[in-house]
This record gives sequence, C-alpha cells and structure tokens, in this order.
Amino acid sequence: MAKGFTLEINPAVYVGKYKENSAWEERFIEKPHLSKAEEDALSDEEKEEYMIKRNSFPDLPLVNYTTQYGFGCFEGLKAFPQEDGSLKLFRPDENAKRMAKSMEGLMMPVFPVEKFVHASLKIVGQNHALGFTPVYDGEWEKNDFVLGHSLYIRPFTYSEPGIGLNLSYYPWVVMVTSNVGAYFMPGNAKAVTTKMVRANPNGTGWIKCDANYVNSTLAKRKAIAEGYMEAIFLDSKERKYIEEGSSCNIFFLLKKGTLVTPVLGDTVLPGITRKSVLVLAKDSGIKTEERQISIDEAMSDAKEVFITGTAAGICYIESITHNDKTVVFGDGKMGETTHHLLKVLKGIQYGKREDKYGWMLKAKA
Ligand SMILES: *Cc1c(COP(=O)(O)O)cnc(C)c1O
Repeated sequence: MAKGFTLEINPAVYVGKYKENSAWEERFIEKPHLSKAEEDALSDEEKEEYMIKRNSFPDLPLVNYTTQYGFGCFEGLKAFPQEDGSLKLFRPDENAKRMAKSMEGLMMPVFPVEKFVHASLKIVGQNHALGFTPVYDGEWEKNDFVLGHSLYIRPFTYSEPGIGLNLSYYPWVVMVTSNVGAYFMPGNAKAVTTKMVRANPNGTGWIKCDANYVNSTLAKRKAIAEGYMEAIFLDSKERKYIEEGSSCNIFFLLKKGTLVTPVLGDTVLPGITRKSVLVLAKDSGIKTEERQISIDEAMSDAKEVFITGTAAGICYIESITHNDKTVVFGDGKMGETTHHLLKVLKGIQYGKREDKYGWMLKAKA
C-alpha cells in the first residue's frame, strides 16, 4: 500500500448518536491498543496498519450528507499538560457553545453543552490514564511554551446515511484526540491576500462547518505553493476589508498603539482564541477595537500583525503581500506586544500564570 499520512488518534474516543426527543446515546470507547511505548516502537508500515484501525468507525455510514455534501460541523480545542501531571482543557464550554450554534445553523438537533464538556474532559482523562497524552517538560518554559506539546481534541458531527439532498436529523457527534508538538514554521511568517472568497454575507461563514474549508484550504495551499505561510481573505463585496486567515482570526497593532481585529459578522468565524486575546489585551492596558479594517489601513498603519487560533495559538505575521506590494511589519520579527500576549496566553494554558477567569478545566476519566 502506498504510504499515506498516518493520523495518530489516541485510543479513547467518544461517539454520541442523536435519538428521539432530544436524547443522545453515548459511548465512551477504548479502541484496541498496545502500550504507548510498544506503539512508538512500531515500524512506519506497522504503524500505518495499526492507525488505520484506530481511524475506523465501522458502524458509521460511508455514504451520507457529510461525505457527499459537506453537511457537518466541527470543533478544535486543546488540553495542556500541567506541571503537577494533570491535563487541563482551555475553555471547552466555549467550544461546546459554538458547536451548539453551528449545529443549529445547519438545522441539526443540538448537542447539549454539558454533554460536550463532559465528553471532552472524559476522553482526555481516559487517554491520560492510559499513558497516551503529552507530559509537561520544564524545558518549554525557556521560550514561553512556543515549543510546548498539547493534546488536540477534534469533535465533529456526522450524518445518517443518505444521498438525496437533506438535512441531518439524526447526527452522530464523534470526538477524537491526537497529540501535537509545536506548531512552528521556522523562517516563514509571510502572508498574502487571496482573490478567493471564504464567506459571503447571509452564508455560513459564521459556522465552523466543513463546507467553509474548501475555499480556505485551496487558498492556503496556493499561498504556500507561492512561498507564503498564510492566505488572508478580504470581504466578498467591496474586496477591501480584511476578514481573517484560512483558519484563524487576525489582529493588527496600529502604530498609535490600538489593537484592532475585524468585527464579527456573519462572514467572520468567532474564534475563542480571538475572544480570549481581546480580554488579555484589555487586561494589559492595551486599547482594543473590533471594527472593519481595510487592507490599505493595515498595510500603512500596522506595526505588528498576528493570527490567532487553537492550532496556531498566537503566531506573528512578518509581512503582508497585496497586489504585488509587500509591507514588512517591525523588523520582520515577532513584535513586543505579540510576544507579551503569547506569553500571557501560553502561561495560563500551561499553568504558569494565574487563571483568573477560570478558563482551564481539569480532565478526568
Ligand atoms: C476555528 C476557526 C478559527 C479560530 O477559532 P479558535 O476558536 O480560536 O480556534 C478562525 N477562523 C476559522 C475560519 C475557523 O474555522
């Protein structure tokens, strides 16, 4: 078999299925597994075979509204190893609420917020008890956890079988986890505007749905092929206002000191990192604004630019290219304010700073 990308899903997974009358049938499944050490000792070929089984849910239908028409939504959140050996999830209640909104937006029965929070804490706790989750390493403190590992949690919906156009009345909610190392791309933090449109007014841009990711992925891969790290989407109507990156929100620290991020509407995804950064910035005495910002204003007035998202955390942007013109921000390195916000956010996530808002929830099996 040709060697594919081996997705390493941890053994403990969750499968919920909507029944009648707002009831969900819930299963916490421990998939067959070796020990973590035995797993790590497998050859690439053996590991691929082994992980294919982990990524197989034989009682879920292949032909359905999700695989045929992109009718589904998902979430992404992380658990962070703590110095005391525990793992804590960052704001799972926020992801739960957003998933409920997404499902409502897709006219599906809504997965209850409490079930989402409980299931996510539990599968992380189970994988932790089985010895599959990352362990805190004091070395990470040296560069503010930029190289820190974490556990990525991916909840998603999956529809009942079907091939005619229809809504999903009886969805599944599946949750899997995978360990992630540092999300770090050395030497390239360049962004470029894309001519593609991610979201239209009165569309699904505000929903974290599968379908939105087609244009995002195409634009991002095109940008990467052209030597950039990220694609920036402009509004679809005036082709002038910045919306966001391919799967992340975007912030601009203007030369006069105000931190600006595009205002949420129905074409910008309400990121939880975005929301958290706005709180942390205000706490640090930084003036923040959520408003429309044009590409021209950003190119002429910004001194620092960064993107935010669960996967990226806070990631600085060294330059933006738009219509063949490139502007480099600061000296092309991470700016002071970006670095400060990154330090504060990671410090809270890895338990090194006070969690005064109660954002971190401990996993339990
Ligand atoms: C998920 C996502 C984000 C980031 O949201 P977080 O909650 O911060 O991870 C931003 N933009 C899009 C399009 C997304 O799908």
